[in-house]
Amino acid sequence: MSQDGTQTETERQKKIIADVRRNKELREKTYRERALKLFPHVCAKCGREFSGKKLKELTVHHRDHDHDNNPADGSNWELLCIYCHDNEHSRNLDAEWYGSEAPGGGHEPASSHKPFGGLATLLKNKK
Ligand SMILES: [Zn+2]
Ligand SMILES: [Zn+2]
Repeated sequence: MSQDGTQTETERQKKIIADVRRNKELREKTYRERALKLFPHVCAKCGREFSGKKLKELTVHHRDHDHDNNPADGSNWELLCIYCHDNEHSRNLDAEWYGSEAPGGGHEPASSHKPFGGLATLLKNKK
């Protein structure tokens, strides 16, 4: 068939990844806004109140740690301040609220293995 099939496939995959990322951001934004409408702006753990600029320190925690589980009645949500939320998750080592870009997670260093590194020495000694 077409010669540039590979190129098109790559472009398509890039678009899919971008779409998924955008949808995820959109969804997270939406459930946070919904949760903030449903609940008083108070941390469920420490009871601090948040308003105005401080409100961004109030985050949505998922009781079952499944951020795809977003029932309209908010039964899976809990509003936690970033500190209590952090606490909650450090117990489970769960990256739910950090999203996929978890600090310290993933990103293997580029391979330090050099397949031809020893070759020059080998040839030199071979003589
Ligand atoms: Zn708190
Ligand atoms: Zn959480």
